[in-house]
Amino acid sequence: MRVRPDELLVLLPRCLQNEDCGRAVQKDVEECARCGVCPLRSILALRDRYGFRMKVAGGGREALAAVQAPGVRAVLAVACVPELYAGILAALPKPVLAVPHEQPCGPCRNTRVDLARVEAAIRSVLEHDNRREGA
Ligand code: SF4
Repeated sequence: MRVRPDELLVLLPRCLQNEDCGRAVQKDVEECARCGVCPLRSILALRDRYGFRMKVAGGGREALAAVQAPGVRAVLAVACVPELYAGILAALPKPVLAVPHEQPCGPCRNTRVDLARVEAAIRSVLEHDNRREGA
């Protein structure tokens, strides 16, 4: 399945944000100051390049609401494996590409993600190479 960038939702867990960062990225990803301490800066750079939707969710209910938003046809979810399983089932029939995150500080704290895997997954589901000019 291939979708347009505006039909792809990249769904991220709150624990990807550095625990000492007070920016309200759950409310709006644009709140991120792009300091680079956590992976959100790099994922925002991918968003700027490809134009997909992006949401940081604090829990399953918030994530499901984002998945069910009008116009979302495919989801790329980053989370721990149990949450990914639950999310894939909850999102049916919408397809979910799942990228497990890494937990160098233990569960639910300052998690990380392989950005090359995220970008490869994004490119695998977009209709064309949608990189924006100059991005
Ligand atoms: S990149 Fe910096 S400003 Fe953005 S969410 Fe992470 S720690 Fe906060």
